[in-house]
Amino acid sequence: MMTLEHPLDDESRAFLSDVEEFGRTEVAPNADQWDHDEQLPREIFTKAGKIGMMGMVAPKEYGGRGLSYVTAAFAVKGLGKQYASLAMDIAAHNALAVGQINMFGTEEQKRKYLPRLTSGEWIGGWGLTEPNAGSDTGGIETKADAHGDHWHVSGMKHFITSGRVADLLVVIATTGRTEVGKNEISAFIMMKDQVTPVRKIHTYGMRASETSELRFTNSKAEILGERGRGREQALTVLDRGRIGIAEAAFDRANSYANERKQFGHPIGNVQAIQWMLVDSAMEMEASEVMTMHAAHLQDQGANTTKESAMAKLFASESAVKICDRSMQIHGGYSYSRDLPIERYLRDAKLCTIGERTSEGAAPSHRASCSQGSEATQARSPRATQSERVGGQAS
Ligand SMILES: Cc1cc2nc3c(=O)[nH]c(=O)nc-3n(C[C@H](O)[C@H](O)[C@H](O)COP(=O)(O)OP(=O)(O)OC[C@H]3O[C@@H](n4cnc5c(N)ncnc54)[C@H](O)[C@@H]3O)c2cc1C
Repeated sequence: MMTLEHPLDDESRAFLSDVEEFGRTEVAPNADQWDHDEQLPREIFTKAGKIGMMGMVAPKEYGGRGLSYVTAAFAVKGLGKQYASLAMDIAAHNALAVGQINMFGTEEQKRKYLPRLTSGEWIGGWGLTEPNAGSDTGGIETKADAHGDHWHVSGMKHFITSGRVADLLVVIATTGRTEVGKNEISAFIMMKDQVTPVRKIHTYGMRASETSELRFTNSKAEILGERGRGREQALTVLDRGRIGIAEAAFDRANSYANERKQFGHPIGNVQAIQWMLVDSAMEMEASEVMTMHAAHLQDQGANTTKESAMAKLFASESAVKICDRSMQIHGGYSYSRDLPIERYLRDAKLCTIGERTSEGAAPSHRASCSQGSEATQARSPRATQSERVGGQAS
């Protein structure tokens, strides 16, 4: 734990100790079974709520723990080591649904919704992606029409984490056209009874997470934040949710290299194995430094578009490489489901795709110099350049 650069106060240390115990006693013993069942029990979210994991950064006045982003990043990393599907669901709940309501909700909305989300009584989902709109967030087709003091939302959402089990969803939809003929995009709060769950999408990794397809048909919703600012809100929220996983795969590989004997000595004596372990250790360290640097800047209230995107890109690509090396070091045993090594690689792969792909999240130094006002310009000039070439709406 990097305490020199980012000293943690007593409250943060106590919280991380609770998270560690929760992961070791409640999560690790069940992880293989949950992965096999492709389902997480509802109670595990309630238990996570009891130790403050369902509202880590949210202010105390709304039932949150009011912790720093650095502390939350350590907590998600620690839980990810035990079971990534649960860590992802909890991270998404905190960063996306809770995060967006906390950042952009009215005082009344915060008081009404946040305490139930931060306590773990409710799970929050977040719906941006659609069958025809992934990286191109400007191309969403879900529509919202005003009806007096509320809105009616109609459309489909795809790949929504916790979608079918979420009690509340933050939904991004179009509310008309802008003056320059682009989609006007706004954010909404919608309750579970307005959502038609279509199906669970069975995934390569993160199998216990309820990755869902959802439909809305004139579903009642209330607007969240200013009309027409939904895309900027979504991109701001995504900036705050970048985390990496790989430590579990590395620890296993490191121990195995000392235990497994071939040709009369531990395989860890062979330089080829040592190189793999050293590369993994180096990439893990760099991922942690970059992630915690971005989290630290967020704690200072700085704009972290470049740092978040760089940390997300580097940490997620590294996690896949580290898990792949761990499989290689474990040889044939890694390929069997007797060990969780293949699960680590499956789970890590999502990190290079979810919350923007590696290509879409790719930062460049031009990003930090961009004077453009649109959030996308600052986030990913590489993506916006190809969007211009491809003529996609964004
Ligand atoms: C398990 C899981 C959970 C998810 N959870 C959520 C959730 O809770 N809420 C939510 O809203 N979404 C969620 N998503 C969706 C996720 O954010 C999208 O899958 C992701 O944004 C990519 O969109 P896409 O899958 O449509 O790929 P596409 O956008 O179709 O991309 C396909 C390929 O084209 C590349 N590409 C596309 N555009 C460009 C460009 N301009 N320049 C260069 N390359 C480009 C991409 O990098 C990729 O390689 C989840 C996805 C998964 C798999």
